[in-house]
Amino acid sequence: MESQKISLSERVQQVKPSPTLAVDAKAKALKAAGADILNFSVGEPDFDTPEHVCEAGKEAIDARFTRYTPVPGIIELRQAIVERIATDHGWQYEPDQVQVCCGGKHGLYNMCQALFGPGDEVLVPAPYWVSYPPMIQLAGATPVEVPLAEEKDFDLDASILDKYVSDKTRGIIINSPSNPTGSVFSKETLAAIGKMAIERNWVIITDDIYDTIVYDEEPLPHILDVDPRLKEQTIILNGVSKSFAMTGWRIGYSVGPKHIIGAMNKIQSQSTSNPSSIAQKAALAAVRGPQDFPVMMKEAFLPRRDYILKELASIDKVTCVVPKGAFYVFPNLSAYYGKKFNDKIIDGSVAMADYLLEEALLATVPGAAFGADAFVRFSFATSMEIIEEGMKRLKKALADLS
Ligand SMILES: *Cc1c(COP(=O)(O)O)cnc(C)c1O
Repeated sequence: MESQKISLSERVQQVKPSPTLAVDAKAKALKAAGADILNFSVGEPDFDTPEHVCEAGKEAIDARFTRYTPVPGIIELRQAIVERIATDHGWQYEPDQVQVCCGGKHGLYNMCQALFGPGDEVLVPAPYWVSYPPMIQLAGATPVEVPLAEEKDFDLDASILDKYVSDKTRGIIINSPSNPTGSVFSKETLAAIGKMAIERNWVIITDDIYDTIVYDEEPLPHILDVDPRLKEQTIILNGVSKSFAMTGWRIGYSVGPKHIIGAMNKIQSQSTSNPSSIAQKAALAAVRGPQDFPVMMKEAFLPRRDYILKELASIDKVTCVVPKGAFYVFPNLSAYYGKKFNDKIIDGSVAMADYLLEEALLATVPGAAFGADAFVRFSFATSMEIIEEGMKRLKKALADLS
């Protein structure tokens, strides 16, 4: 083993490695060795970036739009984001309340660095997106998990919030629709969170990255529609990664109070400077142009969601909340924990994901990665053929446990 002469920062040592990495590395190795792996682990749309967006990127290169841009992003893009939000939601912002950054994940990072520090606690409803707790820890603060119940469709039960709140609570992260559950917080829940936030001066981070992929007919409830006063203490995280199938372009954005965006700009100016000039031009075409692409994707995802739910419902002792948005199902497979295959005990979601990978050649993400060990995440951003075959394999694999 290589010697470790140089010690690492305390900050980085607090962050646990993602439990998805081991399963993911094994899936890649099996695939490279020629195994017929069906991939249900991907967290991105299986569509290509729309043509007009790619064209805008190419034009940016041809026009040699290849230099540094302003730290918070080009003014046309920030203006377009402000206009998109006004059109879609009726919320009024100015371009200096917007920061464009290198993907939604980077926006969240900048936010945590600007807002939180040692001694602060941040409420994270669990199941949560994998990056929330480590991002909070990297800022020196402490994530406090608030459990969401499957029986309540993973909506937050605001009456239990008190148990997790302390004098150190600085804020809460909302992700509705959610990755990994696809669940949406109800208006009543958001109202209860909003009320506490106003009373206790919390910052609300609302991760809206899946807000265009919603299967319900009713409009998506949003914290900013609960009480206009909340605008002063809410920061929106969004981007084009999911809505325009642009995960590789790395463009996200944050919208909120000017002084918070200003602090985030200070951090961005000393770290990444600005997101790619070329990707910003492509994102501009996405945000300003026609909005039929996310609608088309959602219409393609819906029959896949319904099929996968029907198949899961036909499996003995498996339960699954109906996702109202995003492109994941999060079935509860815990009735199969404690069972064995060839003397190997399935003792939790990591062992289950490992078993599904080795014996059924299904790549999934263990619920432990999202703070919910009873579950395993399947993405349905993949073809109907793969979903059909995958569900057959899942049924057989679960039936083979004893
Ligand atoms: C994908 C995703 C993001 C943003 O991803 P980027 O690729 O960094 O833009 C943010 N939040 C959630 C919950 C996501 O699933």
